[in-house]
Amino acid sequence: MADRRKPPKPKECAICTKEFTPRNSLQKTCSIPCAISHGKQKEQTKKDKADRANLKVRREKLKTASDWNKEAQVAVNRFIFWRDYGKPCIACGKPLVYGVRGGAVDASHYRSRGSAAHLRFNIFNIHAGCVRCNRELSGNLIPFRINLIEKIGPERVERIEHDNKPRKFDIEYLKRVKSIFTHRARHYEKLRKRHQEAA
Ligand SMILES: [Zn+2]
Ligand SMILES: [Zn+2]
Repeated sequence: MADRRKPPKPKECAICTKEFTPRNSLQKTCSIPCAISHGKQKEQTKKDKADRANLKVRREKLKTASDWNKEAQVAVNRFIFWRDYGKPCIACGKPLVYGVRGGAVDASHYRSRGSAAHLRFNIFNIHAGCVRCNRELSGNLIPFRINLIEKIGPERVERIEHDNKPRKFDIEYLKRVKSIFTHRARHYEKLRKRHQEAA
């Protein structure tokens, strides 16, 4: 019986781009010198990848607790943004402009990070608010409280108000906060976008 396999089609050499007819589908280069170059290239790519991973590890090691704290807060705030996406300002009730990147919507802490640092990652304590309420009116707490009771119930609000138990967040904890909330923010972002497409 005749060999029914099709002869290999000519293709471009991965190194010199010259057209050649490979002996089999695995052959990527036209000649031995090109094959050697190709092997070296692959080695280099592998090495670059390993270098980048190493660099990342070294950079992570250099991060201080303060760096991790900032990154954890960014992740939590991003989660708040997507959780509250589409909702009005928690304090004044005006619609928020979610489309604008970097500043139209704040993650507003009911008890501020300055006075209640132990609640800075507490998701019941943080809600989407407008820049004016959050920054100029220091949270605009009187209507904030009314709307917060409406949103999460009086028990939770009181629990936040009476929670003065200091907590120590070590680097391991901050890393975990960052990772958990990065994940949850992505999850909510997908949900919101899917919802938007469906609407
Ligand atoms: Zn070649
Ligand atoms: Zn407001």
